[in-house]
Amino acid sequence: MDSCIFCKIAKHTIQSKIVFEGERVIAFEDLNPQAPTHILVIPKKHISTLNDTLPEDRDLLGEVVLTATEIARDRQIHSSGYRLVCNTNRGAGQAVFHVHFHLLGGRSLAWPPG
Ligand code: 5GP
Ligand code: ZN
Repeated sequence: MDSCIFCKIAKHTIQSKIVFEGERVIAFEDLNPQAPTHILVIPKKHISTLNDTLPEDRDLLGEVVLTATEIARDRQIHSSGYRLVCNTNRGAGQAVFHVHFHLLGGRSLAWPPG
C-alpha cells in the first residue's frame, strides 16, 4: 500500500533500524521507544488491523508471533518477561494502520495497561 509508512519500511524506501528480516516478516526498532526493548514486528503484507486478517493469514500471523519470541530470546528478556501488544483500532491506541506487534521488555511493565 503506497501511503503506508510500515509498507515503506518493509520495502526499505524509508529507513529504520531493522533487527530481523525474513521473506514475510520484518522487525525494527520503534522510533519512540517506551521500554529498553521496544521492537515492532510486522507482516510485510499490508493488513490494516487484526480485524482485517483472513483465514489465509493464519500461518503468517503465527510467524510474526514466533519471530517476536525469538527476538525476545536474543535480547535476553524472555525470562524476566516481555509484552507483545497489537493495538487494534483507535480506541486501543492504534495509530499506524498496518498490523504490528509491539515487543516491549527490559523493565517491569504495569498491568492493567492504560
Ligand atoms: P500504534 O500506536 O499504532 O500501536 O503504534 C505505532 C508505533 O509506530 C508507535 O509506537 C510509533 O512510535 C511507531 N512509529 C511510527 N512511525 C514510525 C516510523 O516511521 N518508524 C518507526 N521505526 N516507528 C514508527
Ligand atoms: Zn502497510
